Amino acid sequence: MTVLKKLFWLGTGLIALLLVNCESNKVAQNWHKGNLHTHSLWSDGDDFPEMIIQWYKDNDYQFIALSDHNTIADSEFWYEIKERELKNKTLEQYQNRFGDWVETKIDSTKTLVRLKTFEEYRSKLEVLDSFLVIKSEEVTSSFENKPIHINVTNIQEKIDPIRGKSVLEVMQRTIDAVHEERKRLNIPMFAHINHPNFGYGISTEDLKQLNGERFFEVYNGHPAVNNEGDDTHVDTETMWDLINIHYHKEGKPLMFGIATDDSHNYHSFSSNRSNTGRGWVMVNSKKLDAEHLISAMESGAFYASSGVYLKNVFANQNEIGIAVDPEAGVRYEIIFIGYQKGAEEAVELKKVQGTTASYAYQKEDVFVRVKINSDAKKDNPIIEGETKKAWTQPVLVQ
Ligand SMILES: [Zn+2]
Ligand SMILES: [Zn+2]
Repeated sequence: MTVLKKLFWLGTGLIALLLVNCESNKVAQNWHKGNLHTHSLWSDGDDFPEMIIQWYKDNDYQFIALSDHNTIADSEFWYEIKERELKNKTLEQYQNRFGDWVETKIDSTKTLVRLKTFEEYRSKLEVLDSFLVIKSEEVTSSFENKPIHINVTNIQEKIDPIRGKSVLEVMQRTIDAVHEERKRLNIPMFAHINHPNFGYGISTEDLKQLNGERFFEVYNGHPAVNNEGDDTHVDTETMWDLINIHYHKEGKPLMFGIATDDSHNYHSFSSNRSNTGRGWVMVNSKKLDAEHLISAMESGAFYASSGVYLKNVFANQNEIGIAVDPEAGVRYEIIFIGYQKGAEEAVELKKVQGTTASYAYQKEDVFVRVKINSDAKKDNPIIEGETKKAWTQPVLVQ
């Protein structure tokens, strides 16, 4: 091939590459809505698994993981109906909805109900290609009196709470156990660090030292988790950037941010109850199965939301951008937040009022993410005046 011909093909290739990148900004994205943190009567939630899953199914979610504390719901468990259930009419509602499927027995004066196992509730409610039920466990441990809770999405075999000589050691050993199980079974699964500011159990410094952790909760809808921090503790979003600045310096992959409900209470709805519908993830995945969702999440193809929906999220080697799927009458603010070489902290790089925006990388940018604020008030907020938001994942600028 002549030099001229070579140059011609090289030029054509470059043009094709640029077109692919421009086009990829417009390619229809396949978003799946899901909540990865939920509790049922298997631990400290106050409803039956099927009732909870049915709520998510009826409210346009495409996947759900019941992540009960230290159980994967695979044993025989006869739950005793207590005062609380009588008051909430929990069994009555369950029987009305699921009829003969419900198994009860009377033991002297007690009413017992058999909780369906994961396999039972999954096969009852899962619908191929439209609604997925993922196995999960909230591995619940502590160090001294600091809570250390780690969810394992698509876990297969129960992981018992692990002890250690520090918060960091408990977390690291739990994460290592997840990696071990994943490798041994050759099934994708991942750990995510829950509500670091709950009881201020997990500090930024602890999270910085972790190896092999990719996800944490930047937003958790439980009213006791202090997403916003306080006078002496940073909020989870600041924590997120500080962790990633450190991870980048250490050559570790960036940490991604998840939003969840961490719902426990399904009968009364108020700011001091942990209810459904407050935080979720939207995953851009071709297929709705655990393998594809996990692979998409590990590549950063998802965003966390406490109410804002996006139509499009894109990033190429030159720029990053988003398009909001707007609610009528709502105003949006799109903020590009990034870490630049030599800086101590992440900074606001660009702020746009509107529903679409992009940011062209500057040469000192290291990673950039997008935060979307809105003036839409949440229906059932955990803090007064809370507005709907979304967070895309940080992109490493090449
Ligand atoms: Zn927890
Ligand atoms: Zn929880």
